[in-house]
Amino acid sequence: MDVFDFEKIARSDRAAERYILDSCAKAFPAECPSCGDGRLYVIEGGARRRCARCGRSFHPWSGRWIGEIRISARKWLWIVKLFELDMHASAISLETAVSYPTVLKALDVVRRSIAGEPSEDIACRFIREGDETLIGCRGTGVYGIRICETVAAAAISCILRLASGYLVWADRSLTYASLGYRGEDLSLVDRGERFPFRRVYCSAQTGFWQFAKERLAKHHGVSDAKLPLYLREMEFRYLNRRRRLFDLFIERLCARAEPADRSLPLISA
Ligand SMILES: [Zn+2]
Repeated sequence: MDVFDFEKIARSDRAAERYILDSCAKAFPAECPSCGDGRLYVIEGGARRRCARCGRSFHPWSGRWIGEIRISARKWLWIVKLFELDMHASAISLETAVSYPTVLKALDVVRRSIAGEPSEDIACRFIREGDETLIGCRGTGVYGIRICETVAAAAISCILRLASGYLVWADRSLTYASLGYRGEDLSLVDRGERFPFRRVYCSAQTGFWQFAKERLAKHHGVSDAKLPLYLREMEFRYLNRRRRLFDLFIERLCARAEPADRSLPLISA
């Protein structure tokens, strides 16, 4: 969606609500979050729905990611638009007059909707002694021979399965030029010499890492705990980099708030 179309849907709360409700209806039909019945009455002037079967009343966005934060539809659209434009949370807060903590929560919901993760704790695969083997290889030497050995488990911080393969990050004791993992050859793409990346990164795709690193740098440091969630966002942006992301983000936010099937690609149909 370009800025001219965006202007139309964000011109008033009413227009914004209509747009979000239409997007939610496309994602999946409205249903009662208690009993799943689809026979619903509009009550309180459209602000809530009542289930004809069990009588429960609820917000029209209940059960969807977008329903996790209660801010006006128009503010939601603006937060997503500015997020699409890679704006920092503090600038989004200033532009939308939404408090900084609420913007942080909203961006967290956007990221979790992209990743399909109900919590921030995205599973990182760690290598423990005795687990599947990670092979580390050092340079080719004068005779072109690679010297490879099993990597010490303690050096590995996280192995994340991305659509473009694996991304491994380790502490800076890891000095290999490449890693072998599950049949993939992962090259060292970053030694983490500059703030905020004080880790060693290995990936099969340098293109993705360059894309992600440039954007992650704007956050002035992302904790190890949050990094997997941010990387999921970068993965989504990278895979959809030739598309307008606003509609895709709204599509995700309107989806059911449930864990995603990681066997499916992050590119929207
Ligand atoms: Zn019901």
